[in-house]
Parts: sequence; C-alpha cells; structure tokens
Amino acid sequence: MLKIVAATHNTGKLKEIKEKIKDYPIELISLLDYPQIPEIEEKGNTFYENALLKATAVSRFTKLPALADDSGLEIDYLDGKPGIYSARWGNSDEERIRRVLKALERVSDTERTARFICVMCLVIPENKIFSAEGICIGYIVSTPQGSSGFGYDPIFKPKGYNLTFSQLEVKTKNKMSHRARALDKIVPLIVSYFHLA
Ligand code: IMP
Repeated sequence: MLKIVAATHNTGKLKEIKEKIKDYPIELISLLDYPQIPEIEEKGNTFYENALLKATAVSRFTKLPALADDSGLEIDYLDGKPGIYSARWGNSDEERIRRVLKALERVSDTERTARFICVMCLVIPENKIFSAEGICIGYIVSTPQGSSGFGYDPIFKPKGYNLTFSQLEVKTKNKMSHRARALDKIVPLIVSYFHLA
C-alpha cells in the first residue's frame, strides 16, 4: 500500500482526490492527520509555484510522497482575478462569492466567462517531482445555485451544462472539473512510477 499525504485540510478537495485513486492500492492521508504541521504560506506567483511549495514542505515534514493542489478561479471580466488569490478573496466562501457577484453586477452574460485552474504536484522526498494542470471553462451565474461542493461551486456553470458545480452530482463534477483533469493526468504517472497497476 502506497501512503500519500494530500497537502490540504479541505475535505471537498480530499473527497475528489479519493474518488480518483480508489481503484489503486493508495492510502490517502492529509494535513488533518498532521495538526502539528504549521500553515504553509502561499508565497508563489503561479499555481505551479504554490503547489510545489506546499508539496515540498509537506513531504519534508512527513518524509512521505506529498500531493498538493493549488487551484483557483480566473474571471475574464476581472482580468483573471481572483486567480491565485481565490482562497484569500474574503474570509468565508459566502463573502468571496458576494465579492465576485458584486464585481460582476450588471455585467452581461457573454462577459461572465471564467475558468477554474488546478495544478497538482507530487513530491517524492529527495527524489522526484510530478506535476499536471487541469482547466475547466465556464461562466459565472448571477445568483448562487445549489448547495453541494465548496468554494465558488454555487456560482460557476461549466461550459455545456445548465447547472452549477454545486448542482451537479459529485460524480459528474469529478469527470470534468479542473481538479479531475489534473488528477487524470497525474494519477497514471504515480501508478506507473510506483508500479501500482
Ligand atoms: P487553494 O488551492 O487551497 O489555495 O485554494 C483554492 C481556492 O479556489 C479554494 O479555497 C476555493 O475558493 C477555490 N476553488 C478551487 N477549486 C474549486 C472548486 O472545485 N470549486 C469551487 N471553488 C474552488
């Protein structure tokens, strides 16, 4: 059984990652199992730098392969904001959503295009780094819809669906979300490197 630490406390992210590795002999633990690890500051300027920072710090601390994702929402009308600042765009999901909707008040449907981006990094201590990026395009609706998921899920409709991430079934989101796409690229690299299949 391969033990991997997910460098996150976010149970929404953990659920999505677990679903993608469930067919392999991988035990996924997380920062919830390591309350003593100090908060890792996201000092990078890109999703990749932040994912690498988090995975490196956690793999050093735990001496285990560490998988980190850095993700966020880029809104075209806001010149790509909140981007890497998505988690810091307010003090709660409600506040972050309110701030986005306020900034897009009276903005027409065609100008509300956005994309979620996710970069996944796996750092194997003193050995190797794997990384992969996933993108999901869509647009921002004008009122929150749905109650599942996390973060900006209630206000993002992926292209080709008339439902927000919060309204879609978890398994549907997990087929085409930015995180799903990054995982679909990085999981085979992990499986092959550790001969898990
Ligand atoms: P970080 O990757 O933990 O730094 O934070 C990413 C932030 O982007 C999250 O706290 C959410 O606000 C947002 N985000 C990333 N992925 C998703 C998603 O799948 N749904 C909704 N919000 C997301």
